Amino acid sequence: MARIPDSHPRKNSLESRQKIVDGSSRGLLADSAMIAHGRGEAFDYLLGEKTTKTAREASRESAARLRNARRPVISVNGNTVVLAGEGAIRLAAVLGCPIEVNLYYRTPSRVKGLISLLEDWKLKLSEEDAPDGFIGDWKDSVDGVSILGDSPNFKIDGLEGPRSKCTIEGIGGSDTVLVPLEDGDRCEALISLGKEVLVVDLNPLSRSSRMATVTIVDEVSRAFDVILRYLLDDCDYRPTEWDNGKSLKESLKQIGDYLSE
Ligand code: ATP
Ligand code: MG
Repeated sequence: MARIPDSHPRKNSLESRQKIVDGSSRGLLADSAMIAHGRGEAFDYLLGEKTTKTAREASRESAARLRNARRPVISVNGNTVVLAGEGAIRLAAVLGCPIEVNLYYRTPSRVKGLISLLEDWKLKLSEEDAPDGFIGDWKDSVDGVSILGDSPNFKIDGLEGPRSKCTIEGIGGSDTVLVPLEDGDRCEALISLGKEVLVVDLNPLSRSSRMATVTIVDEVSRAFDVILRYLLDDCDYRPTEWDNGKSLKESLKQIGDYLSE
């Protein structure tokens, strides 16, 4: 793809689109991936393509809940890997938790392709400088991130078919799941299992957004960057009695505020 000049007002959006296009042509994404991305883009446009105050608060709450969790896991689908895979690995390295590739339209070849992309990024990230504020051995922490999903050995109750499959080492045995771009049905099933479900979804009206314990209404790569900063800079913050319905209403209001600016 031709280089997009820094001055182009739609630079980030065009680059993200290209990542989805490239991921599709490499066979890593389901056909519906572009539709899901387009829906996200539309909501991001309405939010001014920036992290809102409400999204920041939800990311702060999610960081605190992930830090407090006994067995946190980051569940990723194809769009999340191609748009924000590196961010997911940084979070997992800081939390010392696994990443599980969990696809709604699961095929063994897509799962393998996405796992190998994440493994490649682990190699690259383990050579980079630790993020500011990180204490410990960054290379060891990145190397230690397990990428799961290849051999499902657990079934999520209440779901049928391949979309119910996951691993006991990851989602199955977890108490807290950070899951961007999740489907409403699966989000509901995870909640029914008694897990805390932290969703990243640009659409504050989606079923996932409404089912989740905490919803971060933000673009996934921006949200991961914000959560990382809270994990490293804000260690004293403890989880609160989070009112997710109130937070979603605020996100909707921010769309209205942005449009009337
Ligand atoms: P639900 O099943 O929760 O009602 P849906 O069926 O409308 O949602 P899905 O296709 O299941 O949508 O999931 C895709 C969701 O991910 C959409 O709500 C979309 O807004 C959101 N989304 C897409 N791209 C991004 C992105 N880059 N960052 C954050 N959210 C995104
Ligand atoms: Mg859905």
